[in-house]
Amino acid sequence: MPELPEVETVRTGLEPLLRGREIASVICHRSSLRYPLPDLTALVGKTVIGVRRRAKYLLFDIDDGQTLVWHLGMTGQFHVLPQQTQAGSHEHVCFNLSYGQSLRYRDARRFGYAGLLHAEDFEKHAWFAALGPEPLSDDFSVNHLIEACSSRKAPIKNVIMDAGVVVGVGNIYASESLYRAGIHPTRAAGRISAPRLGLLVKVIREVLEEAIDAGGSSISDFVNADGKPGYFAHSFQVYGRHGDRCFACDKQIKRISQAGRSTFYCSSCQR
Ligand SMILES: [Zn+2]
Repeated sequence: MPELPEVETVRTGLEPLLRGREIASVICHRSSLRYPLPDLTALVGKTVIGVRRRAKYLLFDIDDGQTLVWHLGMTGQFHVLPQQTQAGSHEHVCFNLSYGQSLRYRDARRFGYAGLLHAEDFEKHAWFAALGPEPLSDDFSVNHLIEACSSRKAPIKNVIMDAGVVVGVGNIYASESLYRAGIHPTRAAGRISAPRLGLLVKVIREVLEEAIDAGGSSISDFVNADGKPGYFAHSFQVYGRHGDRCFACDKQIKRISQAGRSTFYCSSCQR
């Protein structure tokens, strides 16, 4: 499933290809993905003025004041291909652009979804209203995390994965961040000192930034015809390494289950 860094990589790849481009026509091969699609033909003749991201949503800003919001679900992919390219398997929507290219949406499992919202108040929509700050923004401050953890008995891992606290810290990034911060994943959030939470904020940003940088190097893949997504192969320090040795202390990395998800950690380096 695409996580925040992958979606940011997709955004960075699409932005220069779409910005300032007019949508000449739209072909929908089906009317519904996870939810019914909005009337995308309403975009014909309109121009894309930019591509933003909020949490794991891509936001295509249109010159009429609307924003096309798109969630990739589990297997959604965007590709920019020459218009004459035949529709591939699992291709559901094709936006023909004014310069001979087309934006294609492919999604084998069809958990993706889209909406056409007013750009000014999209954050009030149910998809966004309860979301916490972006992890790379100034709003995700040390004070914000201290407040979110204050007197909470829930394990810190569950708290940082709570999208109402901060968006985009998926399961992989939660394990990796807690390892770097030296914080045990089951520790009650409310019992972690302010300096340690400060370090956690710092390493969450680092881990996500590194993942975005790594994804950025494979951008050419997902805008080309070969159809590979821009996901990156990342070397993790704890994630998926249970039974292997900790790089810092040589003890075995452990795996436990928290809230139905696997957590990987070092019982010696994380307290
Ligand atoms: Zn260790």
